[in-house]
Amino acid sequence: MNEVKKEGMLSVIIPSYNEELNILNTTRTVARILDAQQIVFELIFVDDGSKDRTYEKIKEAKKEECRVRGIHFSRNFGKESCIFAGLAEAQGACAVVMDCDLQHPPEVIPKMYALWQEGYEVIEGVKVSRGDESLAHKLSAGLFYKIISRCSGIDMESSSDFKLLDRKVIDTLSELKERNTFFRALSFWVGYRSTTIEFQVAEREFGTTKWSVRSLAKYAVNNVTSFSAAPLYLVMGMGILFIICAVILGIQTLAHFLIGDAVEGFTTVILLILITGGVIMLSLGIIGYYIAKIYDEMKERPRYIISERV
Ligand code: UDP
Ligand code: MG
Repeated sequence: MNEVKKEGMLSVIIPSYNEELNILNTTRTVARILDAQQIVFELIFVDDGSKDRTYEKIKEAKKEECRVRGIHFSRNFGKESCIFAGLAEAQGACAVVMDCDLQHPPEVIPKMYALWQEGYEVIEGVKVSRGDESLAHKLSAGLFYKIISRCSGIDMESSSDFKLLDRKVIDTLSELKERNTFFRALSFWVGYRSTTIEFQVAEREFGTTKWSVRSLAKYAVNNVTSFSAAPLYLVMGMGILFIICAVILGIQTLAHFLIGDAVEGFTTVILLILITGGVIMLSLGIIGYYIAKIYDEMKERPRYIISERV
């Protein structure tokens, strides 16, 4: 499919889920900005199994702008899958991933492109403000980035999916076999000559955010476990703490026994059983989660299924 790696061409990858209101506007805005800078480009819309008329809009955009390409997933596979599908489809010498709602300002793309021409292979977009988001969203996103930054040792509080990648990086990422990917962290992980560029998170152009608090929480848990084994260490830590408590309690109980007033020990017994049960169950839960992950990866299912394309 992508045997033609066009000289200096930029592939713009746009994951879109229920974005019927944004497609045409985004196409025009991006095309205008890139044409003004005389950057050769292609626009790849990845429709994540939208339930609205997103795919029809992509076809419309294709009629209006021949450099548009569209992929339609058979169902909703999530933004990560969109990004990887887009990277696999990209024919450019470099590719930029951006949101369909123009919250990643397209004005920054030419600057990223210039940095790429200077020889950088990964150009990370760094947020300087989080735009207008609900408090719950802000808090949960904040907490999520704190956790993942701690677990993975990468500062991701201000990082985003808005990045420009060189062909080498695209090929490396496409070769990765893992299914539960976390694009934002993987682009750090692969290394290469990288730099950052700051951008202001814009207001969402049309429509509403596609993330509920629930889906964000799921995304957070999924990414923490797919990128680090820290929760397993947490279990270990809790186990150690528990053992220390048990030793102290044990000594106390023994002392009482030796003194001779150890008649009513039931509260301690019940407490101990409860704590043990709780810790064991939690640990099993976390271990089970990892086993489920291993199972998932073993199946080597495709990351996405494309049902149509233009
Ligand atoms: N998106 C997607 N699949 C999903 C959810 C979101 O492709 O299941 C896309 C969405 O169309 C948008 C981008 O991911 O282009 C970011 O989503 P959104 O703007 O809703 O997230 P926010 O900016 O609020 O974090
Ligand atoms: Mg958005």
